[in-house]
Amino acid sequence: MPSPDAAPTGLTPPAYLRTEETAGAGPRRSAEGEDGRRRRLEYPPAPEPLPSPVVDNHTHLDFRDGLVEVSLGDALDAAQAVGVEAVIQVGCDVPSSRWAVQAAEQDARVLAAVALHPNDAARAAARGTLDEELAAIEALAAHPRVRAIGETGLDYFRTTPDGHAAQQYSFREHVRMAAEHSLAVQIHDRDAHADVMRVLEEERFEGDVVFHCFSGDVPMARIAAERGWYLSFGGTATFKNNDELREALRLTPRERLLVETDAPFLTAVPYRGRPNAPYLVPLAVRAVAQLRQEDLEGLCVALRENTARVYGSF
Ligand SMILES: [Zn+2]
Ligand SMILES: [Zn+2]
Repeated sequence: MPSPDAAPTGLTPPAYLRTEETAGAGPRRSAEGEDGRRRRLEYPPAPEPLPSPVVDNHTHLDFRDGLVEVSLGDALDAAQAVGVEAVIQVGCDVPSSRWAVQAAEQDARVLAAVALHPNDAARAAARGTLDEELAAIEALAAHPRVRAIGETGLDYFRTTPDGHAAQQYSFREHVRMAAEHSLAVQIHDRDAHADVMRVLEEERFEGDVVFHCFSGDVPMARIAAERGWYLSFGGTATFKNNDELREALRLTPRERLLVETDAPFLTAVPYRGRPNAPYLVPLAVRAVAQLRQEDLEGLCVALRENTARVYGSF
């Protein structure tokens, strides 16, 4: 088993993800989609370049998908070619948070976010290693290329109620770390809107709050606007049956908008179900511009300014 500290290089998947079973291939999303239907594993064609550069605010370049292996450098080059100049690489557990830091050290187009994902936090608690893993995340948080604690938050969809207390404890610890290190928090909120807002309020967090892949409704978007929270939108804003989300997107102040892929998941229409990657951010940006009836170039400039305000310079 290669060392978890091996740097991401060339065409190799993250070393820590390799196991005997995957024989060097890394974890791969299956050819079956969440709805049980077969999904196409070809990467979609590159969209038309954006008129002004933006940043993918939430991606997982260490997760493998699709038919071909894509290196860190190739993923970033493909993104840059269409005006996606940089990414925030987001950790979900200790090894992937380490990988995010290494990627940010290796390439100037990457900044890192580190955390235990709420579902991973519940699993760590069940193993009895949650505090130890939180300490490992906190050690990474001091790195100068780590600019956010995330993705943290609550996920009541994947984790059953017996894991919710552990998630809340972990979320509070992450918020405390973000305050301690003057970092933003990137929040994963699945079916837990009220509790996420309650925890943020109780912790009196005063730093930047980013709801990654915002999934709340109109009232929640209004509260977010009042509190100055950032809402990040991606492929889900293009999905059918997401009219409420589009309404929330319309009323979000422009200076609080961010865009992301959450790659390799949540690919925008018309490529829903296919592998996602940062070079596909223009699909979301164009959808956002159209829904808000905003000039594309002006929107790109605002998105880039918002990113810089939250995460600092690359
Ligand atoms: Zn998430
Ligand atoms: Zn994510």
